[in-house]
Amino acid sequence: QVVNYAPFTLLPSAVPRALFEQAYAVQQDFNLLVDAISQNKEFLEQTLARTIKVDDFTAQLFRIYQQVLEEGLAQTVFLGINRSDYMFDCGLDGTAALRQIEINTIAASFGGLTSRTADVHGLVLKVLGKTEEASQLLPNNPAKGLALGIAKAWELYGSQRAVVMFLVEEIQRNIFDQRCVENELWNRNIRVIRKRFRDVFEQGSLDASRRLFMDGQEVAVVYYREGYVPQNYNQQNWEARLLLERSRAVKCPDIATQLAGTKKVQQELSRPGTLEKLLPGHPEAIARMRATFAGLYSLDEGEEGDRIAATAIADPDRFVLKPQREGGGNNLYGEELRQVLEKIKDSPERTSYILMDKIKPQPALNYLLRAHSPLQVSECISELGIFGVYVRQGQELVLNQAAGHLLRTKAIEHADGGVAAGVAVLDTPYLV
Ligand code: ADP
Ligand code: MG
Repeated sequence: QVVNYAPFTLLPSAVPRALFEQAYAVQQDFNLLVDAISQNKEFLEQTLARTIKVDDFTAQLFRIYQQVLEEGLAQTVFLGINRSDYMFDCGLDGTAALRQIEINTIAASFGGLTSRTADVHGLVLKVLGKTEEASQLLPNNPAKGLALGIAKAWELYGSQRAVVMFLVEEIQRNIFDQRCVENELWNRNIRVIRKRFRDVFEQGSLDASRRLFMDGQEVAVVYYREGYVPQNYNQQNWEARLLLERSRAVKCPDIATQLAGTKKVQQELSRPGTLEKLLPGHPEAIARMRATFAGLYSLDEGEEGDRIAATAIADPDRFVLKPQREGGGNNLYGEELRQVLEKIKDSPERTSYILMDKIKPQPALNYLLRAHSPLQVSECISELGIFGVYVRQGQELVLNQAAGHLLRTKAIEHADGGVAAGVAVLDTPYLV
């Protein structure tokens, strides 16, 4: 039970202004897309059909999804908070291109803490005598943007007495990030409670119209900061999750939107024609989104999968092998990728993974400051995330916004891993 400062870079990192603006400009499109996928049963069924045969976690989520659809949704207001992550791929001629790594549709974190990082870096620059540069740093307040979405959903739910429930981890390592969002809600006179799955199992109940109560207190919005990896669940927690999903409360995200964020769905989106089917009548949005896609490949059984598996085994450094997991540290690279793919290439297990082109950004020097770590200069690469927030009531999208950004930077020795995984640190973009 020790409090540490969140890790951060000593200096802000250079980010090409055009790519930064491109990432912001496409965020409303991605909000629209995620929302459309979450309402498209046929697409989710088809896309995940093979995955759920081999991946137990996705299968369990999918069972809950089917169960709530069969019963009929009680929820009428929908709230999405996502973060679309990008790296800057360095081409042979030295120009950088924006490439999407993934969209996080559940528990996308660090919107709170990063609302403070621009101030930290502004101070560092001033101490260094770089007053002019300090004034160039953009203000950034995702905590406020996320809270705005939660508040809107709470308001549309329509009960003054009802609370917002943050569904949190057993061991709350990132509580201060969440508190930043929570405080924004209290400032709007919205009550917030923090509960774990086990509390829901013990205290949660539904009334006849499936309104959710925790120990007699009505819950308008459930904001998940937990529940995205298999380790978050035991039998009781799965039951608690089902109870929440069956309820009228606004889940952020609902189970369908969580499924929309799987790696398998991401890979299917890159297939020619898929975006057109999901968002008919939105050719410009589709072009903006597609311009950010990296090469993504299905490993489903069949000729297409055989071919790409063989290519990746022959040249593993060109690819990243990804299972259906979140939270960092799950992907495979290089020699390890080759060995695993070699082992599973003729088994159905192969379908639980996807392949992606490896993005190769231009490294830059910086200091990564982390409690109890020695101070040293490192070669670093950065990943830019844009937060998106949207609210839908029935069929009407009443809010669709970009809500701020997050820059995370890590030493190039680490192929994988975010801030929570202990690899990346918080940063601030310095636009160039
Ligand atoms: P997770 O859901 O675990 O966060 P990601 O797809 O975001 O999965 O991958 C985790 C990390 O691995 C990323 O933050 C990034 O550092 C690295 N990574 C993922 N995909 C690629 C890629 N295509 N090229 C280079 N690095 C990648
Ligand atoms: Mg990620």
